[in-house]
Amino acid sequence: MDRADLVKESFEKKAIPADRPEVGPSEYFGELVFDRAKMHRYLDADTLKALLDCIEGGQNLDRATADKVAAGMKQWALEHGVTHITHWFQPLTEGTAEKHDSLLEYDGKGGVIESFDGSSLVQQEPDASSFPNGGIRATFEARGYTAWDPTSPVFIQDDTLCIPTVFVAYTGEALDYKTPLKKALKAVSDAALPIVQLFEPKATKVYSYLGWEQEYFLVDESLYSARPDLMITGRTLMGHNSSKNQQLDDHYFAAIPSRVAEFMRELEIAGHRLGIPLKTRHNEVAPNQFELAPIYGETNLANDQNQIIMNLMDKIARRHGFVVLLHEKPFEGVNGSGKHNNWSLGTDTGVQLLAPGKDEKGNLMFLTFFVNVLAAVQRHNALLKASIASATNAHRLGANEAPPAIVSAFLGKTMTDVLHKLLVLPSDTPIEIAGKKGKKVGLVEIPEIFVDNTDRNRTSPFAFTGNRFEFRAVGSSANCAGAMTTLNAAVAEQLIIFKKDLDAELGKGKDLHVAVMDTLKPVIASVLDVVCFDGNGYEDAWKQEAARRGLDVQTGVPEMIKEFLSPASVQMFTTTGVYTLHELQARNEVKWETYSKKIQIEAKVMSRMAVNHILPAALEYKKRLLEELALNKEVFGNLDGCSIELTTVGRLNECLEELQKQVSVMKEAMERAGSQDSGYAKASAYNEVARLLYALRKPIDELEEIVDNRLWPLPKYRELLFIS
Ligand code: ADP
Ligand code: MG
Repeated sequence: MDRADLVKESFEKKAIPADRPEVGPSEYFGELVFDRAKMHRYLDADTLKALLDCIEGGQNLDRATADKVAAGMKQWALEHGVTHITHWFQPLTEGTAEKHDSLLEYDGKGGVIESFDGSSLVQQEPDASSFPNGGIRATFEARGYTAWDPTSPVFIQDDTLCIPTVFVAYTGEALDYKTPLKKALKAVSDAALPIVQLFEPKATKVYSYLGWEQEYFLVDESLYSARPDLMITGRTLMGHNSSKNQQLDDHYFAAIPSRVAEFMRELEIAGHRLGIPLKTRHNEVAPNQFELAPIYGETNLANDQNQIIMNLMDKIARRHGFVVLLHEKPFEGVNGSGKHNNWSLGTDTGVQLLAPGKDEKGNLMFLTFFVNVLAAVQRHNALLKASIASATNAHRLGANEAPPAIVSAFLGKTMTDVLHKLLVLPSDTPIEIAGKKGKKVGLVEIPEIFVDNTDRNRTSPFAFTGNRFEFRAVGSSANCAGAMTTLNAAVAEQLIIFKKDLDAELGKGKDLHVAVMDTLKPVIASVLDVVCFDGNGYEDAWKQEAARRGLDVQTGVPEMIKEFLSPASVQMFTTTGVYTLHELQARNEVKWETYSKKIQIEAKVMSRMAVNHILPAALEYKKRLLEELALNKEVFGNLDGCSIELTTVGRLNECLEELQKQVSVMKEAMERAGSQDSGYAKASAYNEVARLLYALRKPIDELEEIVDNRLWPLPKYRELLFIS
């Protein structure tokens, strides 16, 4: 089929109505999850208590109880037609891993039964030698284990019972995203609790919350199949701008096309059945770009749900003739996709620690956490950037769109003013709820709720939005755990430091309010000077200003990743118990290797497309022009009136020469990169190759403008980017 037929086919595709249940989501929400309600129904009282102690209190589950839990799960699963189980885990690749085992066992009487016991629930040993491990498993003992994470509920997908697990080496070192995330969540809870209890004595636990907003693109499946670059690398490596893209801002929040709406509907229903509280869906800024977001939840669970959704999106989109692109920058010239991580802390008594308090004391507690978060972001700004750095997210970082490659924090006017006032007023000044005491000077006031959400700055990578911070730099294809582990661990470290300083102040006999303010003041002064920035993050002036302030302005990904091994990062991760030095080293090897491989694949795909797709089309067009010129000569005896043909042939020749030159430059750069032996050196060399991809793209995109539209072998942006 040629391109014109593919385009026609894509436009003729009709929306397939999603199978819609007759009832509302409250009737089927969570039906495929072994949640609390199911635990009550399928477990006896002692087993239920032991399991809840394990989930809430971290107690171990003995083997006999695990058997009983498994029996309850099995009964529930069989009622849903389950035939297989899998340990579901998050290795250091993109996406999740699962190995399905049938429940089938011989019954010893000549027949078979469905079998599932505590040991297969609790631990398995997948043959995992081919997952990235950065050398951790390159020892003589290559085993890896998956172990059940009881804090994340078991769920059913198709005919399979999925058991969320951590994935560790036999040495106990983490080989996945979930293990360090859980450690960081424990670290932040343990560090926050003693501070919280000064204000809120009844609290016994602090939770970290995550609300992710997932951006993505949809493209028609037939057009996608005609683009080897999209299929293999997840992004277009070439393609001239469409004459119309996002300049009219007519896509954002516009009516959702019906084919897309049906896809979203089906995705929502599937998500709700899996207990994922999907709430928001809308068009995004770029054509064919959309977003979905759930109601926020506990970070470990919310992250699992994001992983499940990313898988589901892909499967369901195919049924509607679409392919989902989770890549951060599938198309040049229009916005890329991110995954805003809305993050906050809260207590088991229901207090939000990053929301203004209900009274003076509550406000003091809010300020304590607010300022300490800023201090953590300041100290580890380079590391937070490293936590979101990848080959694919690099196309957003530092380009003229969110996020800039500098991690600063946006507070908004209200909170900036509050911090400035606190600095100059005496430490015992009450921190009132705005409006309560009428307008008074010399008073610090915080509104009880930030009703006005318009005080926003889209250019800031880390923004306060009234009751939470929004870490906007996370990539759309990333596992949120990378960023969330770093953020929670960094905040944990800062809270430990703060508590020590506060205890020293309290030791001097000061009351709590004065001691807190005296401890916070130098921190406030420092964050206002360094990490807080409410201006335009895209301006060049900010880069210079940020460098002057001592913020990290590095834009190269391999270099950014190094920050994981800086003394400050190693100290932070080891004292909070989140990573060992060896784990950090291993992970960096994985990151550099992944980076190199991704660029290598892009470079290979691009050179081949340049030679096999673009070159022949351009040569064919040139041949036609030359034939026409020859014909002119034959008929008229001269080339008068052929200036268009002549200039076009000239431009074609220039582009073709440039194309050929860039292909060989890239080949040499790849050979250089291939000959490096350390992971870092190789990644740095591939960083150069990444730049060359742009150089090769230029003549190709120019050719697209010149060559006869009918001869162009690839679907163009204007076709890929507009779904009817
Ligand atoms: P935006 O206006 O930023 O696009 P959305 O409604 O798309 O907002 O998404 C905001 C996300 O933030 C939702 O997932 C929401 O549940 C989440 N959220 C709201 N409050 C909190 C909080 N306190 N902690 C963490 N996430 C939160
Ligand atoms: Mg949003």
